[in-house]
Amino acid sequence: MSTPSGPGRKSSNPPEGDSEARQGHLRPSPEDLRLRVYPDPVLRQRCRPVEVVDDRVQACIDRMFELMYEHQGIGLAAPQAGWDARVFVINVIGSEEEPDGQMAFVNPQVELIDRDERDSFEEGCLSLPGIRLDVERPMKVRVQALDREGNPFTLEAEDLFGRCIQHENDHLDGILIPSRVSTLRRMAVRGKLRELEEEWNPNS
Ligand SMILES: [Zn+2]
Repeated sequence: MSTPSGPGRKSSNPPEGDSEARQGHLRPSPEDLRLRVYPDPVLRQRCRPVEVVDDRVQACIDRMFELMYEHQGIGLAAPQAGWDARVFVINVIGSEEEPDGQMAFVNPQVELIDRDERDSFEEGCLSLPGIRLDVERPMKVRVQALDREGNPFTLEAEDLFGRCIQHENDHLDGILIPSRVSTLRRMAVRGKLRELEEEWNPNS
């Protein structure tokens, strides 16, 4: 998720899941990881769980933090780096200078605490440059995951942190923000999506 530019407005759009269940088999080295932008097909994959948090997985996580900071994000999911694994990283402070705020989530299980308590806020995505959309989401979540060292943890999150967790977790199921808004709102960014499709170079 990219840094929010300001407060969002209220809206009431039901989410629309459109992920395609596909099993990937990528096991990249950290140096292979680079920012992937729409319409890269890796962004539409359902990611697979990490079997063991080994040195290579940790090095890939570290590379994801680098990419996130390099592109001024506050969260990055593995498929955005070209890796089809159930992993995302977050630092809502968004600064390398504040490493205390950074967290890795491996094989996260996200549970909504209260589906009815929802809020709308403008989101951006590093994989959708130039696109910002008001996305309505539940406010509070509970997450179980493994950390960068492979140790299990559970936490509850709300506000920007809770939103960022839901945004990044969506990436692991191939869901991008245009699928989380109404058809009308999606129409408003259709031209921009088409531009990205035309500009996309699989080798860049
Ligand atoms: Zn994103």
